[in-house]
Amino acid sequence: METLPNPAHPERKIKNMKNHPKNRWQDSVAKTLDPVARLVYRSNLIGEDPTLTNTGGGNTSSKIKETDPLTGQETEVMWVKGSGGDLRTAKRDGFSSLYMEKLKGLQKNYLASKTKGPKTQIEDDMVGAYAHCTFNLNPRPSSIDTPLHGFVPARHVDHTHPNAAISLAACAKGKELTKEIYGDEVIWTEWQRPGFDLGLILEKLCKDHPKAKGAIMGQHGLINWHEDDKKCYELTLELVGRAAEAIAKKDRGEMTFSGEKYKSPGEKERKALWLSILPWLRGRVSAQQRMIGTVQEDATILRFVNSKDAPRLAGMGTSCPDHFLRTKIKPLYVAWNPATGDVAKLRSLLEEGLEAYRADYKKYYEKCKRKDSPAMRDPNPTVVLIPGLGMVAWGKSKSESRVTAEFYNCAVEVMRGAEALGGYINLPQQEAFDIEYWQLEEAKLRRMPPEQELARQVIAVVGAGSGIGKETAHRLAKEGASIVCVDLNEKAAQETSAELVKKLGDGIGVAGTGISGCGPAIGLGANIVDRKSVAEMLGEAVYAYGGIDGVVVTAGIFVPPDLEGRIPDEKWAQTFAINVTGSYVVADEANKIFKAQGLSASLVLTTSVNAVVAKKGSLAYDTSKAAANHLVRELAIELSPLVRVNAVAPATVVQGSAMFPRDRVMASLAKYKIPFSEKEGDEELRTRLAEFYAKRTLTQSPITPADQAEAAFLLVSGKRFPRTTGQVIHVDGGLADGFLR
Ligand SMILES: [Zn+2]
Repeated sequence: METLPNPAHPERKIKNMKNHPKNRWQDSVAKTLDPVARLVYRSNLIGEDPTLTNTGGGNTSSKIKETDPLTGQETEVMWVKGSGGDLRTAKRDGFSSLYMEKLKGLQKNYLASKTKGPKTQIEDDMVGAYAHCTFNLNPRPSSIDTPLHGFVPARHVDHTHPNAAISLAACAKGKELTKEIYGDEVIWTEWQRPGFDLGLILEKLCKDHPKAKGAIMGQHGLINWHEDDKKCYELTLELVGRAAEAIAKKDRGEMTFSGEKYKSPGEKERKALWLSILPWLRGRVSAQQRMIGTVQEDATILRFVNSKDAPRLAGMGTSCPDHFLRTKIKPLYVAWNPATGDVAKLRSLLEEGLEAYRADYKKYYEKCKRKDSPAMRDPNPTVVLIPGLGMVAWGKSKSESRVTAEFYNCAVEVMRGAEALGGYINLPQQEAFDIEYWQLEEAKLRRMPPEQELARQVIAVVGAGSGIGKETAHRLAKEGASIVCVDLNEKAAQETSAELVKKLGDGIGVAGTGISGCGPAIGLGANIVDRKSVAEMLGEAVYAYGGIDGVVVTAGIFVPPDLEGRIPDEKWAQTFAINVTGSYVVADEANKIFKAQGLSASLVLTTSVNAVVAKKGSLAYDTSKAAANHLVRELAIELSPLVRVNAVAPATVVQGSAMFPRDRVMASLAKYKIPFSEKEGDEELRTRLAEFYAKRTLTQSPITPADQAEAAFLLVSGKRFPRTTGQVIHVDGGLADGFLR
């Protein structure tokens, strides 16, 4: 144990530093920054530390002297984290800026209103008034927490959602413990929904307790302030550290959550159990709208789900308002005994649990709804807890489901802390409802841009390492799908997925075990002629996202004949194995997932115009593609009505194609007597050949991977051709010889 001077309170030494968040402030960085940039820096430092706040939670502010663009005079402006975004990733444009004088001036209007106080109309109206206080046309909307910052007189304010502080805030004896831990430095305030009135309460608190440095806001979190920004940051660390210390002192060790009731199976067995349940469960929770999953099965969450107290605590629901907007008022917990390994029993318990959950949610809505409440939302749980296995969280995108998982991780930590401190208490149902169905929240939801066409969909692209597959992966990702990039060449698949993640960003939310902590794309290796390899690949995809909605297969092979025009038997067999059997194996394995989910799905294969045009020099390839065409039709019948099966049939896509290596391009140029030089680059030669091919088509234009990707997108999306199945679409520039008949 070390003893160090306490930066915020030099008179007091900090003991047991291990419970204290790490101070990561660097003067060398801060001194190069302007006052707003220092606020961004401080915010990012707080946001990056999960012990200090959760994704999207908390906000920070600085009151800064600025030159008024209207008068040229100096004026005081508050920069405060605006609505949306989060502290970890916030940049300058994430902060709103308000004239302090105007913001303070709103108090007069508010106080003049006959009805005022929490949950009154005037409170919500005030949020609209913040826009009128905007300094310098800053377009970032102000959050509902703006008055919490504005009415505290100190120059710098941090409001955070640290698990340790929320444990205190959500503890039966929170008020007494706050006094015990912080003396008069931090004052307790009772739970109240954030808004104008809470700002006034804090203003009064500062007046009544001039020495106070912060407040624990009941069932919510921590707020603290300082005249100096670095000291404000250090104060945040210190106050969180002191709460964490108090919890550590009362840590119940083996008896956390009253001790263990169930034991988890080993890692491998657990994963097999997850895979046997996930697609089915996804289908169930997606009854109203498709959801993407995130699995969490680390020691912390397993300790919770396996504990004696888990059913009681899970039933109480989450406390911090930030948490339950994503996690719903409570998770679904099923009392399955993992020692039995009985998956059928687990399924039936989940089925019963889901039914009861939906009925309960409806009851909660009916009981708490007000005259003007928005319509009831999806009654399915977003967090499912299974003893022995852990947790799966659901959201409309991968990023959202990670946030949901993160918030329930936080909720578990809060419950652990609060139980250690003397007993966890939840927020009363009506209060939870008034947050969940707040008109302001509803308005926020309505302001969101409409969902993308492939949002909520997970699509695997087999052959995504190059050419048409790579292009298709990009095309589908652009429409909002989560993409599983698959290739025989695992590295190439991962390169494509890395490109997608770079383009789209990882999103927010810090949770998920192993590959389930992924972003909008993953890259996996698989050999489509090996059923085991395909099954393993699909298993990884299911573990990463919860299920699959579509598969596009672009993988294929062209083996040129030898100089005498012959193709060896093993090459013939290989051509059929990859071009026909491979597609079949992928379809057959994916269909197991589609069936378990019970959700409509789509399969797109890639055949070739050569399937219907017999020509010299490509006997094995053409014959295999003819078989693939018929495979499409057979699969369309076999997999109906749940799965649509169609194909794209390209012709002579030269650009970026792995099927047109340099020597094949040169051989073709020579065959058609097109002059070229060996010194020319690959793409130059390919373009020349592509132009030659283009001239043979009806549209007279070269055929690109993007053309194929577009067709794959139209076919895989359930919205464009929802009633088309068993069809092969030629994307060939128009070859009369290839017309289907
Ligand atoms: Zn808050």
